[in-house]
Amino acid sequence: MAAYLTLDDLDPGGSTVLVRSDLNVPLEGGEVADDFRIRMALGTIDALRTAGAKVVVCSHLGRPKGPDPELSLAPVSRRLGELGGFAVHQIDAVVGSTVETEVAGASPGDVMLLENTRFEAGETKNDPELSDGLARLADLFVQDAFGSVHRAHSSTVGVAERLRSAAGPLLVAELESFGFLLGDPDRPYVVVLGGAKVSDKLGVIENLLPRVDRMLIGGGMCFTLLAALGHEVGNSLVQEDQVDSVRRLLEGPQGDRIALPSDVVVAEEFSADSPASVVGVGEIPPDMTGLDIGPDTAADFSAAVREAGSVFWNGPMGVFEWDNFAAGTRAVAEAMAECEGFTAVGGGDSASALRMFGLADSVSHLSTGGGAGLELLEGEELPGVAVLERWL
Ligand code: ADP
Ligand code: MG
Repeated sequence: MAAYLTLDDLDPGGSTVLVRSDLNVPLEGGEVADDFRIRMALGTIDALRTAGAKVVVCSHLGRPKGPDPELSLAPVSRRLGELGGFAVHQIDAVVGSTVETEVAGASPGDVMLLENTRFEAGETKNDPELSDGLARLADLFVQDAFGSVHRAHSSTVGVAERLRSAAGPLLVAELESFGFLLGDPDRPYVVVLGGAKVSDKLGVIENLLPRVDRMLIGGGMCFTLLAALGHEVGNSLVQEDQVDSVRRLLEGPQGDRIALPSDVVVAEEFSADSPASVVGVGEIPPDMTGLDIGPDTAADFSAAVREAGSVFWNGPMGVFEWDNFAAGTRAVAEAMAECEGFTAVGGGDSASALRMFGLADSVSHLSTGGGAGLELLEGEELPGVAVLERWL
């Protein structure tokens, strides 16, 4: 496991601390549409502020190719201030002499938010000049952006090479939860995977299959596995180029740990109001599309989740955004809430499903990161975490 300093090792009072948070939230009409990540980031910022540090927060937002007013962090500043109950001063650049002057003029306990780090072309290239510019703003660096540490950028790796750095409490909580899932979690250990593409999660299946007791697979990705077993899947989502790989896993030594749906909800069209019907997996009509797991499968999967000692869930069981196809995802979410073991959920869409059902507070760990969690579960090292080790 990775090793790093934590906030307890820093003495931030009186220092200027640059915090990399993950404030990459959806915006709608210039306002924050979902403030989950802001609420999760708040604790670390508040702890540094009340410890008497000058707090300079930075984050990326979306994928701008350069400065783009639509992807300004200004709405995030406002929401951060409202939620935190403290003033947040929005700085309208990422680095440079004006930013340095503003930071120098701030007082201990002040919170500032830099502009979107991806307004700087150097960010995604881990450009040394940008990293130098970020490092000039502070005495210490706190990495708290779990959702971003799988990328080697200036605000994740470059700056952490230059300033004495620690992992923030949110990052530590994330790493500990995933570490638990990769260690020796309480059994039965159940993993539930769904979502759109099997290609996104093949590495996770491969790395976790030897560790789990059961792996339950639904969502769009299950149809590639069903197709590999020779089932007719109609117009359902199948990634032809993945069929051979998943067949190898299904036929491999731990293939019998994989549970696939026995029934599915199908519709004629990929649309919210296309009438839904339930069919066995052997009976999917050629002109129909599978959009959710069926009720028998939902009952089986739910029972396995409820009785688990530890569960990790990533990826909805169906197109939960549409009521007609949300039942499977809801059943798994409710079973997660009822399970008395350790329950962890990763993935942006899975997290929003859980929140849609009002169950976000009912799991042991709701991850703020999608890709970073998947990379950890694939057995990869995260560059933004590995870089912290040098400061031990
Ligand atoms: P997460 O963000 O939790 O990792 P993904 O991004 O992998 O999840 O997948 C989420 C998407 O998968 C959702 O938008 C959902 O509508 C879609 N999905 C789930 N089941 C199906 C299906 N049977 N056919 C097509 N898309 C599906
Ligand atoms: Mg997603």
